[in-house]
Amino acid sequence: MLTAQALPFPGDPPLQRNGYSRISSSAEISADLAAITAASDIARLEVLGHSVRQRPIEALVLREPNGAANPLRVLIVGSQHGAAEPAGAEALLRLARELALGELRPWLQELDVVLVPNANPDGRDLGRRANANGVNLNTDFVRAREPETRALLQALARYEPDAVLDSHESAVLKRKSLGIEGWLTDFEIQFETANNPGVPTPVRELGESELLPALLAATAANGIAAQRYIGEITSTRQPITNGGLTLRNFRNTAGVQNRVSILVETRLDSGEFEYPTWRNIAAREARQLHCLHAFLAVVHSRRAAIRAATAQPVRGDFALHASYQPDRDHPRIAIGLRRRDTRELVMHHFADHRRVALADAVAPPPAYLVTAARDLIRPVLDAQGIAYRQLGAPRGYRVLEQHFKLPTAAGGRATLVASAAVAREALAGSLVIELAQRRGRQAVLLLDPRSTSSLFRYPEFAARLGAGEPPPVQPVLAATGGNP
Ligand SMILES: [Zn+2]
Repeated sequence: MLTAQALPFPGDPPLQRNGYSRISSSAEISADLAAITAASDIARLEVLGHSVRQRPIEALVLREPNGAANPLRVLIVGSQHGAAEPAGAEALLRLARELALGELRPWLQELDVVLVPNANPDGRDLGRRANANGVNLNTDFVRAREPETRALLQALARYEPDAVLDSHESAVLKRKSLGIEGWLTDFEIQFETANNPGVPTPVRELGESELLPALLAATAANGIAAQRYIGEITSTRQPITNGGLTLRNFRNTAGVQNRVSILVETRLDSGEFEYPTWRNIAAREARQLHCLHAFLAVVHSRRAAIRAATAQPVRGDFALHASYQPDRDHPRIAIGLRRRDTRELVMHHFADHRRVALADAVAPPPAYLVTAARDLIRPVLDAQGIAYRQLGAPRGYRVLEQHFKLPTAAGGRATLVASAAVAREALAGSLVIELAQRRGRQAVLLLDPRSTSSLFRYPEFAARLGAGEPPPVQPVLAATGGNP
């Protein structure tokens, strides 16, 4: 079955070649992906975009030409947080060898796999978590202003994966917060699914009730305990949640597009202690690889269920607003932390805020009409892959003209203060977004001011919701005439 022997073997990945003495550079990762591609008859290297500093963001596309007629499409993204979380990219170079040239190639009979090992090349080479503009990329998926964010959105649009893994590391030492209190977090692996309430129900339920337990079991079977993600613990006095609910992160943006979407966070050991390799990078890479194997095994074995869930048409009401609340039935949660000085494990009792309260359920209208602020909204639609058309001539519509009161405090809710069905003449150049598309719910969540993920939570968009003026985005009830 292996046909790669005649081609040049790429040798060891860069981390092994440098003896685990430092992380690989972005140039070394690019060179390694090129070497794997040259050595494999089933690998193709594609450029999704370029970073702020013009480094390529690359995807290794692995497709078995004699595989199943309709393979499940899988996308795995590593090291969005640059040099702060480098082990994902290193492990993905090992996984690339195993799939393209080694013992995992049989999985490609049923899976098309796309690997984006180094999602933030500038952050890696600058020694930081953010990109070169200082932006935490995993908070940029609503506005999509950074080129690295757009490259990952481009990966979703180009490959339309059924299943996505976003791979991160999480530091046990929060030097500026929990570390000051004298504590380290204590976990090996955490998994979470897309948790925004707009994620279509079949995909959401499959993720929570089947895939998450299967991932925990698959990692436990190999002797490493995993748990469901409980966010970042930065203080002994904070409440516990399951992490970000909005579309600001990649996991939820992928999920709301009707894909199975999983986050993994592996333990990032502190630089304060002695390890056999640089900051324990060999063990960290092994933990990441362990999770990549577990994810592919679970996705491969559940491929029929994943395909069935993602093939269902998206319909029904969903909530625009979600927030974590105290849980009266389960007010406290016990979590072990390690003392920073002695590393002794001590149980702490945290307030349990993992219950999600929903508000503002909506049934999406057939379409949205965008009559103003097109200079701001259109680039977002383009970056997100949301389909729309532009009116070439004026046209009459019956729309729901809604007026909102925006929240005055961060985390507050926008409220609907007036709503009336009115006839509107949309000028040429107005945009029409049909919402019966894969990204229909995403469009609603980005454009309705009541949504926790709304563009109108950002000042440049909020400024366009002028008091007394018609809002720039209106739900369409019907087209009433004029040239289409
Ligand atoms: Zn991260």
